[in-house]
Amino acid sequence: MHAPSLPDRSIEAYAPVTGADRLDRLRSLAAALSDVRVLHVNSTATGGGVAELLPSIVPVCIDLGVDTDWLVMDADDDFFEVTKATHNGLQGDAEPLTEEMKATYRETTERNAAELEGAYDLVVIHDPQPLGMIDRLERTMPGAPIVWRCHIDLTDPSDEYLAFVSEYATRVDNAIFSRSAYGAEIDVPAQSVVHPSIDPLTAKNRSLDAETAAAERDRLDPLSFDAPLVTQISRFDPWKDQFGTLEAFRRAREEIPDLQLALVGSMAGDDPEGVELYERVAREAVDEPDVHVLTDRPDVTVNLLQRESDVVVQKSLREGFGLVVSEALWKRTPVVGSNVGGIPLQIEDGHTGYLVEPDDVAGAADRIVALLDDEDRRTTYGENAREHVREHFLLPRQLADLLAVFAEVLD
Ligand code: UDP
Repeated sequence: MHAPSLPDRSIEAYAPVTGADRLDRLRSLAAALSDVRVLHVNSTATGGGVAELLPSIVPVCIDLGVDTDWLVMDADDDFFEVTKATHNGLQGDAEPLTEEMKATYRETTERNAAELEGAYDLVVIHDPQPLGMIDRLERTMPGAPIVWRCHIDLTDPSDEYLAFVSEYATRVDNAIFSRSAYGAEIDVPAQSVVHPSIDPLTAKNRSLDAETAAAERDRLDPLSFDAPLVTQISRFDPWKDQFGTLEAFRRAREEIPDLQLALVGSMAGDDPEGVELYERVAREAVDEPDVHVLTDRPDVTVNLLQRESDVVVQKSLREGFGLVVSEALWKRTPVVGSNVGGIPLQIEDGHTGYLVEPDDVAGAADRIVALLDDEDRRTTYGENAREHVREHFLLPRQLADLLAVFAEVLD
């Protein structure tokens, strides 16, 4: 296990964005946890939504006076092959789960749990990867409640993987899901729902000064900001459906010939499928100079693309929440997204963007064109989007909801 470095964060800095009164509930919840030591554990410090959330949640908790640590598991590719298969299995894709895979999982989670030093009053386990640590935690930290923060859509899991994860999940004190429907298939002692959020103060989400924006535009050459641009930002993962996005773009380009597409993806540390899929997507678009397939770009570049694209697309087939949707909406960019998982929480159809069914490529293309053809609509939806995210999907709200669950579990 290792502790990633954390940025400095002060809760006060959020007051100008959310309004000072929105922070009062959070402060009083934190005050009630001032003698509690909390540990968050996940499986990667880079790539994907959980690695995005924890560097904000943890330092803000510390600033609020809640003693909080974040540790990342140490594991090799064999383990991540198993956990990626588990992730896919929980989303309904049933690759066989062998005894050898289970043994790899148990050995790695046990070894990581054995490295834990010190005592905690509450342990928060993010996603299925570290869940096996519960075997040892039950012995080494008896009495410390364990919260499982499951970020995955579990509505249609493969039985085999659900049974495997349930061996551990049935023993947590509380499972937190991003939507209430996600917990219907799994038997856990108690459930809560907390919608994720974005951090408006990070390099990914804060406003960009003119000089930085100009430098970023230059770095993205030959992509042009004088021609219409559609962007999807996602890990290279089959569930993100980059091929569907490409197909929708091609149809939209028939109406808008100078349209460009940016497909931007990062390689998450715990996702061994990424490189292969990236290569397939890049090969597929190799003869299309107006398609830009980009990897591992800095947060400020992602920020600029979300801000300056005319439309952002998120054509996922499954999506636990999809922080990228709120990230784009916060920057006043309308989003065309699939009507799956957490996306409809964020996109209000015909108000902040459009929802399309995940297999409806033609519908996605139509919606992209409808937005590109109408600048006033984009501006109105963009303003609506900003306020929707301000109201529902900024960090202080999520943190208050999380601390409320912690208080309940510790009660
Ligand atoms: N992300 C990024 N660069 C990329 C692709 C993704 O910084 O090339 C970030 C993205 O901005 C978001 C997170 O990774 O903050 C992805 O979170 P999301 O909830 O959308 O999806 P997940 O990867 O967790 O399935």
